[in-house]
Amino acid sequence: MNSNELRTAFFDFFAAKEHTILKSAPMVLKNDPTLMFTNAGMNQFKDIFLGNEKPVTKRIANTQKCLRVSGKHNDLEEVGHDTYHHTMFEMLGNWSFGDYFKKEAIEWAWEFLTSVLNIPEDRIYATVFEGNDYEKIKRDSEAAGYWKKCFKTSENRILEGSKKDNFWEMGDTGPCGPCSEIHVDLRDNDERKTLPGHTLINKNHPLVIEIWNLVFIQYNRKADGSLEQLPEKHVDTGMGFERLCMVVQGKKSNYDTDIFQSLINEISALTGISYGEREDTDIALRVVTDHLRAISFSIADGQIPSNNKAGYVIRRILRRAIRYGYNYLQQEDPFIYRLVPILVNIMGDSFPELKAQQKQITAIIRQEEMAFLNTLGKGIRLIDKRIAELKTENKDTFPGKDAFTLYDTYGFPVDLTQLILKENAVKIDLAGFEEEMKKQKQRSKVDATKESTDWTITMDQQGTEFTGYEKTSDKIRLTRYRKIILKGEVLYHLVFDKTPFYAESGGQAGDKGYITNGEEKIDIIDTIKENNLIIHVSKSLPQSPESHYEAVVDEMKRSATAKNHTATHLLHYTLRKILGSHVEQKGSLVNDEKMRFDFSHFKKITDEEINLIEKLVNEMIRRNIPARVIDELPMDEALDKGAIALFGERYDNKVRVVEFDESLELCGGTHVESTGQIGLFKIVTESAIAAGIRRIEAVTSEHALDYVNRKLSILDEVSNMLASSKNIPGTIARLISQINDLNKRIEKLETNASVILRDELLSKSEEINGIKFIARQIPTDSVDILKKIAQMIRSSNKGIILAIGAHIGDKAHLMMMISDDIIKLKKIHAGDIISSAAKYIKGGGGGQPFMAIAGGSDPEGIPRALEKIREIIKESFI
Ligand code: ATP
Ligand code: MG
Repeated sequence: MNSNELRTAFFDFFAAKEHTILKSAPMVLKNDPTLMFTNAGMNQFKDIFLGNEKPVTKRIANTQKCLRVSGKHNDLEEVGHDTYHHTMFEMLGNWSFGDYFKKEAIEWAWEFLTSVLNIPEDRIYATVFEGNDYEKIKRDSEAAGYWKKCFKTSENRILEGSKKDNFWEMGDTGPCGPCSEIHVDLRDNDERKTLPGHTLINKNHPLVIEIWNLVFIQYNRKADGSLEQLPEKHVDTGMGFERLCMVVQGKKSNYDTDIFQSLINEISALTGISYGEREDTDIALRVVTDHLRAISFSIADGQIPSNNKAGYVIRRILRRAIRYGYNYLQQEDPFIYRLVPILVNIMGDSFPELKAQQKQITAIIRQEEMAFLNTLGKGIRLIDKRIAELKTENKDTFPGKDAFTLYDTYGFPVDLTQLILKENAVKIDLAGFEEEMKKQKQRSKVDATKESTDWTITMDQQGTEFTGYEKTSDKIRLTRYRKIILKGEVLYHLVFDKTPFYAESGGQAGDKGYITNGEEKIDIIDTIKENNLIIHVSKSLPQSPESHYEAVVDEMKRSATAKNHTATHLLHYTLRKILGSHVEQKGSLVNDEKMRFDFSHFKKITDEEINLIEKLVNEMIRRNIPARVIDELPMDEALDKGAIALFGERYDNKVRVVEFDESLELCGGTHVESTGQIGLFKIVTESAIAAGIRRIEAVTSEHALDYVNRKLSILDEVSNMLASSKNIPGTIARLISQINDLNKRIEKLETNASVILRDELLSKSEEINGIKFIARQIPTDSVDILKKIAQMIRSSNKGIILAIGAHIGDKAHLMMMISDDIIKLKKIHAGDIISSAAKYIKGGGGGQPFMAIAGGSDPEGIPRALEKIREIIKESFI
């Protein structure tokens, strides 16, 4: 069975058991403050488990793209070194929301593995939770009982596991429960006879591995650590698709399955290094193969490599692959991007987002590769330079601080630095490095400190009705609240039965405003979404949580935001019309001040195009097109109508469509009633943010008018200064060319003056023990002349030391030069000398051994400073 058939077999099996088959949710998360990436199938159902949302259907099966490279699940360091952990992998799952429980979950898992996939029963093991006295939870005998009915052999294949392996928790708080893992023993028969499989369960044996975890969610963990029974019990299962493939295809490594084989073959062909020959090159081949998938899927989901948060995580994965390629596969030029077509070939049918964005993914990976290979080169040169310095200082330990800089700035993991050092017989101060790492961790911990209490429920109601499309104020009641401490500040999260406040999402900023019950008024400083929960942020708590409040949105801000949001739609439509249908939204930000729109496009947008775009958007504004909003349109119909859906966005089955004539978008945001309200649209900047991704920032309405007026007033100022408003660019161009001419003339005059001064100085040199020495104050008004003289003398004289001083403006300047032949013979440093003379002019200075400069506030001290230099030179040359 190939991998695509296997995926289908899983869906078919659970569809026959009345499960609805869902598409994978995006791997990059947008509305979850606790998580950057989906790391398990259950993430997208969190609200259901938490009781914030009702499930649309009670049985679901799906495959979920997961990424385990940060936070609670971080497998990054394993990947490549073992054969069964990936950064990105697919997790197959079946779900029961308050429907079936342990019996069916276990029986069906068994049936699928043994009857559909024909995995031999004597290779399978199951684990159950052994119980925990401290938590007062008993052994999961119920699960054990169902397993007993599955296994027909007499040998005990049901093992007990501790809280670590067999009790699953969503986080510090929230839904949790015991779980049963299914393990498979893939060793040869001989080996299995000598060492029974049950001794190897959960022991990191590459051929005795966990493939499926069945979680039985029956408790809720509260903030004080206690457990309470959930009213509804759920099943959450997760099976590693790549591992299952290995089992079904009779392989001993995930990388030997059809999912990875053609990728590995292609890398071998590109690099000339075959798989299966050497341990270190095999690891590198696996790393590149694995990471390519993770990066490509992240980009397809809208997460571009960058310097912070999720983007940085992605960048580091890619850099790890580049580094392995560079170190072990001898790839000094970009090569990973060339594998994208093969990946699209293998997975593009099941994940259309990959196919659709192939060009983008390729371009971004290539650009990242080029940039990092460049940095890698710089880092290596830096290490070389530091090693040379250490050797001249007769030291053999590389400072931890430098290793940290390499890690932090150049993405050099310490083991790579160590490797290079080892080749040069230099040690590393590991303790110093760890110390720096610890400091950094502490810094980021302080940034991220966030504490929260359990929700206090004040009214029994699930979810919040959003009334903000029709109204900006409403009568509301508090249903729950909690206290949050964020970077030392106490804030409250309030949830209401209904609300006119729009919560930040889809790029649109959250509403601000207040709630009041006549007696007190509480400001709402922001409105955010946590999964699907609408949370109002305040600095204080309502005094009477039970009473009715009026919630009032700041209308000015809301309406300014709406103008920008609608303008974003008009811009999106216009961009596709003018630049082409390859334009896809890659991110947007809309608030009451401006809008920002990122989109795929491979060229800079010309000034003419910008003009045309602005013109068309403003035309649509003047046409005063009324908004047409259709709530709850089935997704298929919306797409048929031509609405644009975004990759990496999670949509429900029924969607909201916002129309302004030809502009049709799936959108949950708030908009103007008709486009005329926007008034004016003006693009402020156009730039590139990544390979093939452009950014436009624009303003509307009063902000646009202000922007235009600011520009015009600069123009007015300029024409006042020029005393003419005719042909301003021509006048300025003429002025610039005049300045250039003048500069050239000054340069010539300065050279002439320097020649005269140089000759004068040379004629007055004295001799100190065989060398020529000149120390003089000269009349000049330009520091450039000092430098010029020093350079001229340096380039055509030997055995000479020069010290000159000048009084320029109200400042004192010193310049010193020592000719190269003297430096070679004598350990003497112009920078050091001038800095000890600079105190006489009340200043400081420094420079190189052959040339240095100083400045100070006391020109009276120049003769004394020159005298000091003479003394030092005399002492050095006795
Ligand atoms: P392991 O102990 O092998 O790391 P786990 O306990 O972390 O597994 P779960 O969190 O229970 O795994 O995830 C469910 C299933 O997902 C596992 O049974 C396994 O088949 C698969 N899985 C987990 N992590 C990975 C990974 N990094 N790469 C591929 N598959 C994985
Ligand atoms: Mg794990």
